[in-house]
Amino acid sequence: MQGVGFRPWIHQLAARHGLAGFVLNSTAGVVMELEGTEEALAGFHLDFTEHPPPLAAVESVTEETLPDAGYKGFAIRESSSEPDAFVLVPPDVGTCAECFAEFRDAANRRAGYPFTNCTHCGPRYTIIRDVPYDRAFTTMAEFPMCPACQAEYEDPSSRRFHAEPNACPECGPHVELWDQRQRLQAGGDAVAATQRLLEQGHIVAIKGLGGFHLACLADDDAAVRLLRERKRRSDKPFAVMVRDVEAAETRGVLGDEDRAALASPRRPIVIVPARRVSAIAPGLHWIGMMLPYTPLHHLLFAGAAYEALVMTSGNLSEEPIASGNEEVAARLHPLASHFLLHNRQIQTRADDSVVRTFEGRERVMRRSRGYAPTPVDLGRGCGQLLAVGGELKNAFCLTKDHYAVLSQHIGDLENLETLRVFEETLEHMKRFFRIAPVAVAHDLHPGYLSTRFAVGMEGVRKIGVQHHHAHIAACMAENHLDTNRQGPVIGVALDGTGYGTDGKIWGGEFLVCDYAGFERAYHFRYVPLAGGDAAVKEVWRSGLAYARDAGLEVPFAVTPEAMAVVDRMIGSRINTVDTSSCGRLFDAVAAILGVRMKANYEGQAAMELEALANDDAGVYRFDYDGGELDFRETIRSLAGNAADPATAAARFHNTLARAIAETCLRIRAASGLGQGLRRVCLSGGVFQNILLLKKAAHALRAAGFEIYPHSLVPPNDGGLALGQAVIADAALRG
Ligand code: ZN
Ligand code: ZN
Ligand code: FE
Repeated sequence: MQGVGFRPWIHQLAARHGLAGFVLNSTAGVVMELEGTEEALAGFHLDFTEHPPPLAAVESVTEETLPDAGYKGFAIRESSSEPDAFVLVPPDVGTCAECFAEFRDAANRRAGYPFTNCTHCGPRYTIIRDVPYDRAFTTMAEFPMCPACQAEYEDPSSRRFHAEPNACPECGPHVELWDQRQRLQAGGDAVAATQRLLEQGHIVAIKGLGGFHLACLADDDAAVRLLRERKRRSDKPFAVMVRDVEAAETRGVLGDEDRAALASPRRPIVIVPARRVSAIAPGLHWIGMMLPYTPLHHLLFAGAAYEALVMTSGNLSEEPIASGNEEVAARLHPLASHFLLHNRQIQTRADDSVVRTFEGRERVMRRSRGYAPTPVDLGRGCGQLLAVGGELKNAFCLTKDHYAVLSQHIGDLENLETLRVFEETLEHMKRFFRIAPVAVAHDLHPGYLSTRFAVGMEGVRKIGVQHHHAHIAACMAENHLDTNRQGPVIGVALDGTGYGTDGKIWGGEFLVCDYAGFERAYHFRYVPLAGGDAAVKEVWRSGLAYARDAGLEVPFAVTPEAMAVVDRMIGSRINTVDTSSCGRLFDAVAAILGVRMKANYEGQAAMELEALANDDAGVYRFDYDGGELDFRETIRSLAGNAADPATAAARFHNTLARAIAETCLRIRAASGLGQGLRRVCLSGGVFQNILLLKKAAHALRAAGFEIYPHSLVPPNDGGLALGQAVIADAALRG
């Protein structure tokens, strides 16, 4: 891969072992010829396998013995490339340890320089204008290197050999602090002045890698509330940047895998249990934290009176992240009093990525900066396709060879502004990766902007893909499940909303499927939901729907008038939709337990129930009615436990886990495939709930199943496009 310092590292290694020869990047991978004694070759081999450069992922090595060529010294040769070969575009990488050490070394020429980087770290995807990845095709093109930087850039023994964004205080970008009208400070003074503003409780917009953050003190509830008010975001949790891992430990409960995720070069936001509930995430026992990932972030914490800052995307609620200096002044002006800007342009927007951890691995919930556009290896060839994804948490996917390239998180594709970002990013990525799709895959929902975009494309085949089939196929693809060879899998797809083949809203689905098709074996019982989209926000409407279905009278904390209206709608089935959604079942449970009547952001009720659950092991009864999984008895029992919501929440999770395992057992028994049907894929936004994932995994394994959760792509609709793509590929082959 370009931009990871692989060739200079090989050069240094060859020099250390006294080997002659060359190394070059080719489209087939890295090629090197090494000439020297047996002993030197063996030494090189050992170092190569045991200490690869930090960002390189060596997939495979092929070796061959050649006749003597009589090389004099070791050379890095020009790269060779074929015109339409797949080119890897590197993602942005958090500051490496060596750069951080230089940045902190008062004697170094880059001491305190906020744009220090090398081949192991720094901006990549967000500054690339075109391929090949070369400084001339990045937003660093406008900064000619000084002689010292140029010398590093040309020195194969330097960590900055061909470090395209290489920069120093002499020649690179710089920071400035502005208020709403004018420039106030520049250079180091700008950062010091920013620290004072933050310490006084102000909100400052800070330009980063893939966009702007709005920053304020994380431990000052008044500052956080002010930001919440200005951002018009009532409850949604804010991400927090902490100075170091120690500062993270005082705010959240970290496991080893959480610490590893925090410190990884991708520097995601890691969600962990919070040690205290605060204005950062009102009512929620979770906290999302990240470590500084650019030298500018490190500088913001250096010598400051704080160790944690709220760092939330610089946008109004539901709008795409702002990226240009002018755009920011116009759009963020009402949100921030001051702007810490720099003069390196952001070419591509990228939000911070979000992960949770489970069974020692990162589980990506939002895949963006640091992850995109690293391709997902499909483990097999695939045509050149586009899959446009869904509506919420949109990301699209392009495929070629054995690669699936998912775009960074685009956002909720509900307005033209976001559609514009979608289209721009698509044009960009088609060019970068040299992909000319012959077909486009889309969701079956006719109203999605993504569907309309796909249907409007000219000269390509259009392939509609069922939402939950796509979820499961995404899970199959990232886990390299080959259904042609190994037979079908059971797919458990639990989410909020997905268009069904019967025109109803699905979301509690058990599929038996391969890439070519699916059979809907079981689903949650349909319940009539009043008011469609209104019911997603007013979760008590789900509560009422499930309560009525179970024959219960449950009081909800809403006006009697509102209750009466919705009751009538359900009773006479006016303006209702039938849904088998698991997300709505979570909503209903939260409302029936009195935990929440209204959701202020997607998934709020479910996140609260997950946090609320204690370790009670009880399970409620559930039933089957033909192919329907019926939770009416569960709802009745739950309502009886409403006085102890922590126990009821635990039992609800246990019940779902048992229902998942029991249903899979029934499917296996009816299939006649026996152990041939033992692989279970778990997908859909509900599986962002790690407590449910853990319990379901346990119950399924106890029943003799192998489980396949997501890791590389989100279980939510952010991973949908990957599934659409591999299903479309199967359709084209079939
Ligand atoms: Zn570095
Ligand atoms: Zn320089
Ligand atoms: Fe979904």
